[in-house]
Amino acid sequence: MCGIVGYIGRLQAQDVILNGLKKLEYRGYDSAGVAIWDGSRINIERSVGKLVNLDKILAGKPLKGSIGIGHTRWATHGKPSEQNAHPHMDCGREIVVVHNGIIENYIELKEMLLSAGHVFKSETDTEVVVHLIEDIYRKKRDLADAVTETLNIIRGSYALVIFSKNEPDKIICARNLSPLVIGVTENEAIVASDIPALLNYTRDVVFLDDNEMAVITAAGIKYYGTDTKEVQKKTVRINWDPISAEKGGFKHFMQKEIFEQPRAIEDTFRGRVLDSEGDVYLEDLVLKDEDLDVDKIYLIACGTSYHAALVGKFMIEELAGISVEVDLGSEFRYRKPVLNKKHLVLVISQSGETADTIAAAREAKKWARRVISICNVVGSSISRETDGVIYTHAGPEIGVASTKAFTTQLVALLLFAIHLGRRKNVISADRARELFRALRNIPRQI
Ligand code: GLU
Repeated sequence: MCGIVGYIGRLQAQDVILNGLKKLEYRGYDSAGVAIWDGSRINIERSVGKLVNLDKILAGKPLKGSIGIGHTRWATHGKPSEQNAHPHMDCGREIVVVHNGIIENYIELKEMLLSAGHVFKSETDTEVVVHLIEDIYRKKRDLADAVTETLNIIRGSYALVIFSKNEPDKIICARNLSPLVIGVTENEAIVASDIPALLNYTRDVVFLDDNEMAVITAAGIKYYGTDTKEVQKKTVRINWDPISAEKGGFKHFMQKEIFEQPRAIEDTFRGRVLDSEGDVYLEDLVLKDEDLDVDKIYLIACGTSYHAALVGKFMIEELAGISVEVDLGSEFRYRKPVLNKKHLVLVISQSGETADTIAAAREAKKWARRVISICNVVGSSISRETDGVIYTHAGPEIGVASTKAFTTQLVALLLFAIHLGRRKNVISADRARELFRALRNIPRQI
């Protein structure tokens, strides 16, 4: 969801990657990392927080080499930490991967890979990709083939950039629903999530489309569909001025974020709506039956999230038949709310750091049956302090007036309402499926 840069050529890859990642900083991120091939091994450096942290480490001990990949992460699975930062490696330390997006079927793939003996070092969904490639590579001994087969197994959104010490003359990249653009020059290539990262090196670019893969060598680039058929791609000349390019071509962040809504909404329900069962799966929210034996739900939030809660009240009351009270965090914390074990509290905050909402959650924890949350930032204070969380996968929101954070909160509330309605037997599996169909149409309708 944030930034990727990959480089193969004659320059020091670290410089090209860091310059490129800086140009992608407008996308927002919580951690960053690079992997560079030095001719005998793949060296990795990762760090939490701003790119300057990584920059400082690398200034002290630069990674030498002219093939590499770098990443800025907006965590969706696993908190922002060095361990969870990309790039991720396979068990044999031979293959390295960066990924933007969400692997929808990572749980079943992880179980399969664990039982095949793979050892995971992070909590991310991404790590399944590199182990899967490793597993297939052991049989195929061809990186492009192993990646193609992997792409046919994983489901979800991804921009992936991969290289291996076994075939160190190439970088492979692939996309589905997360952007990737390749900068083409003579004897070198750069791949990135967005054009600004390339503009210092070239203005001739190729946009990868969904379900396409590129095998990039210094001598040239070949493009394939996931059916392994080679496809011909057009090179496009970019004439943007670099400043406007840094907002991805949009006038300002709010406009960019408005246009990101179809993707953000899809990422929020991706992997969570189960047609077979007519139910919703919420991976970080485990509620026992007795937790749902409540006669009232309090929705507590501030600002925009409060407005999402007002809509959520309608959804929960209609679909789950439980009465809902909506409260402002700032009011709730200072009054004497009547709360007891027959009450469930759901707090909503984009950042997960809203002071009044945190205080309200702490107060509620003393009395309520359970306090759960809806947040956009993995590992934020509210997500840590509550008994369960539904993450909205909106990606970073920089614009002050909320757009995609708000609409993804509505999606999270709807998922929660459907889940409650099913658990309480208020709605049928068919009604849930009907709602899933409507939900799946929303990105296209937007
Ligand atoms: N889902 C991946 C993770 O949580 C990638 C997130 C991203 O797009 O930055 O690590």
